[in-house]
Amino acid sequence: MRGAQPSYRTGLLAHYPSFSLLTLPGDAQTWSVPVFMFSGDAALKTLRDPNRRTTLGRACPLHAHWIDGEAITEVLPMGGVTDHYRRFVVDGAPVATEILSVGDAWACTNPVNGRGISMGLMHAEGTAEVVRAHPDDPLRLACAHDAMTETRATPWYRDTVVFDRARTAQIVAAISGRKVPPPTDPRGALALAMQHGAEVFCAFLEINSLLALPQDVFAGPGVADRIMEVAAAHPAVALPCPPRDELLRLLA
Ligand SMILES: Cc1cc2nc3c(=O)[nH]c(=O)nc-3n(C[C@H](O)[C@H](O)[C@H](O)COP(=O)(O)OP(=O)(O)OC[C@H]3O[C@@H](n4cnc5c(N)ncnc54)[C@H](O)[C@@H]3O)c2cc1C
Repeated sequence: MRGAQPSYRTGLLAHYPSFSLLTLPGDAQTWSVPVFMFSGDAALKTLRDPNRRTTLGRACPLHAHWIDGEAITEVLPMGGVTDHYRRFVVDGAPVATEILSVGDAWACTNPVNGRGISMGLMHAEGTAEVVRAHPDDPLRLACAHDAMTETRATPWYRDTVVFDRARTAQIVAAISGRKVPPPTDPRGALALAMQHGAEVFCAFLEINSLLALPQDVFAGPGVADRIMEVAAAHPAVALPCPPRDELLRLLA
């Protein structure tokens, strides 16, 4: 889209019950509004049609003004977004030496979290260290690279998988008209609690910026209890949008 830069009335990434909207500013007065949906949601696949995409945007009052610009491309569909991970060490032994996979070639994560570049840089830095330490020993290098990856980078990959599974469960519940059960652990409760407690918001920022792993942040004195307490004291905030059946009627 192109025009006067719209103002933010939600965060950059906003989760509605059965889809999410991302609002990404670009240069030269351009921006994009990616819609994330569940791959099995055949009804929302009609959003490939620009008119339906406009209908969806206009139906969400906090995002309607992001659709008001001049469309400079068609709706560009993208599928096959998966979390995947590969490892060249199995049962403690490398299955190949003299090959190291780094960044997305090692693990690719759902771009909705916007963490692939940070993970890749973190991994590349660790790779440079182990290559410097083992320049002439391919076997040791393979094992050291695997150990570094598992310690520094894999926990972030696993955290993305946890997020994706939880979000997929929410979306599937919304599609089938079931209520989403309240979160039972700090990772699940964080998104709600961060809206009501400054210290919880700081914990969220540390995790979201990949500065500290969730398990390390939650291990801080009283942090996990505080997150659960704040989340339990507040109802989940639903961003305004038509209920699912009304949305499908609008998109029909
Ligand atoms: C839609 C989308 C949105 C994203 N948004 C974000 C975001 O907001 N924030 C974020 O942090 N991450 C985001 N990511 C993830 C991020 O783009 C990747 O994690 C990051 O680019 C990975 O870097 P990389 O160097 O490992 O791989 P790549 O960036 O894929 O680089 C690999 C390069 O190798 C080249 N190549 C491939 N095969 C060969 C070959 N045989 N010979 C020579 N060259 C070859 C490719 O052309 C490419 O240039 C997003 C990803 C997608 C798909």
